[in-house]
Amino acid sequence: LLTMARLTTEDALVCETRPIHPFLHRMVREYELSAHDRQIRLRLIIEMGNVLVTFDPRQVQRVIDNLLSNAIKYTQPGGEIVIRAERGDDEIIIHVQDSGPGIRQSDLPHLFDRFYRVPGTERTSVEGTGLGLAIAKSIVEQHGGRIWVESEPGQGSRFSFSLPLSRRERSVS
Ligand code: ATP
Ligand code: MG
Repeated sequence: LLTMARLTTEDALVCETRPIHPFLHRMVREYELSAHDRQIRLRLIIEMGNVLVTFDPRQVQRVIDNLLSNAIKYTQPGGEIVIRAERGDDEIIIHVQDSGPGIRQSDLPHLFDRFYRVPGTERTSVEGTGLGLAIAKSIVEQHGGRIWVESEPGQGSRFSFSLPLSRRERSVS
């Protein structure tokens, strides 16, 4: 696991400039079965044109993998997850909103730390190592983006990250 975490932070990105829509559709499709198994509704809402983003698909896939698998494993059956993509001035923002238990204010600053799991998570037998969000943060920052979370106990959680638009897109707008 340590090797995996280290590799992520040190490997050079292998970026491609391409539309992000098909990528998001494919990722959400991959999670439909596991969401369905847990009786969780999964929705993808794209609120932007088919913009070009320069990104490393394998690495960004790991970011979305972790956000979606977290949303699914921490949300109780009957819940809903909404993935929303929108365009900012010179970036796109992807939000993963769940109707799960939410996170206390005091835990929020530590979520992206390596090995941090909200106390009690182990006891409720949800498996994990606490590395996913730390890896996601490192990947997003390597792309020049940001990652953050908004949450309140009982109100679900919304994880968001940004990726800069390709230079071509920025000069068009
Ligand atoms: P790993 O991703 O390495 O398998 P993990 O899911 O426990 O393990 P992270 O993805 O880094 O680790 O998440 C850290 C902790 O943040 C989780 O253990 C959980 O306590 C909390 N957390 C993450 N996502 C959510 C969410 N959507 N709702 C509630 N709590 C969450
Ligand atoms: Mg995780």
